[in-house]
Amino acid sequence: MLLEQFGGANGELAAAMQYTIQGLNCDDPGRKDLLMDIGTEELSHLEVVGTLARLHLKPMKAGRDAAEVDPLIAIAGGGGVSLFNSMGDAWTADYLKITGELDVDLRSNIAAEARAKIVYERLINLCDDPGSKDALQFLMTREITHMKAFTAALESMGKDPFSIGEIAPTPVLVDQYFNDSTGVGDEGETDARGPWNEGGEWKIVEAKQLEGGVENLAGADGGSQTKNKQKQPSQRETVKTRRRA
Ligand code: MN
Ligand code: MN
Repeated sequence: MLLEQFGGANGELAAAMQYTIQGLNCDDPGRKDLLMDIGTEELSHLEVVGTLARLHLKPMKAGRDAAEVDPLIAIAGGGGVSLFNSMGDAWTADYLKITGELDVDLRSNIAAEARAKIVYERLINLCDDPGSKDALQFLMTREITHMKAFTAALESMGKDPFSIGEIAPTPVLVDQYFNDSTGVGDEGETDARGPWNEGGEWKIVEAKQLEGGVENLAGADGGSQTKNKQKQPSQRETVKTRRRA
């Protein structure tokens, strides 16, 4: 399980490489220093997680039962750590989110720290060894520290949070909320309203195919075939129009 934080998608090597390479691409000296500092700290976390995992895995080398449960670690790996996640998938640079746009990268990093935090929390909850728990608590805490630093770095850039890159979004379209899911289902789903689709600039656009009421949708009433045939082209049309827009 610990290997998830060693060679996994939200693990320490991924964090170290993501921040360090973003740092190499960064022209802002202050934030470059931040990226390099945290990237380097994540390498030290890799060492902590690796040492911890090694302590727990080493006995597998000699135990037949353990070896049968996980031959990748016991037989191929000799009871040591390697760059795999907890399911034995090899670490990949595809885990890294590097765009070369500083504010976009900082947002990725805030999300990456949140994911690392929640993985550590789950490991703590499943861990019954006090020493390992202490180490995991330390690592989990540092992820929140990094989240605070990345958030401060992003906010201090003074950018409008919805201004990404140079090209402005299309007026009107940018404020339209497409109410495309029916909000009607067997599990009591609701067609919800909230600050994500009402108030301020929001304008709700109802899906064309729902204009006749959900009871007239294809299949909703066990359905007349004629009705179904009439509805389908208009659904496709709506999708095409939106894609072009
Ligand atoms: Mn870390
Ligand atoms: Mn971190």
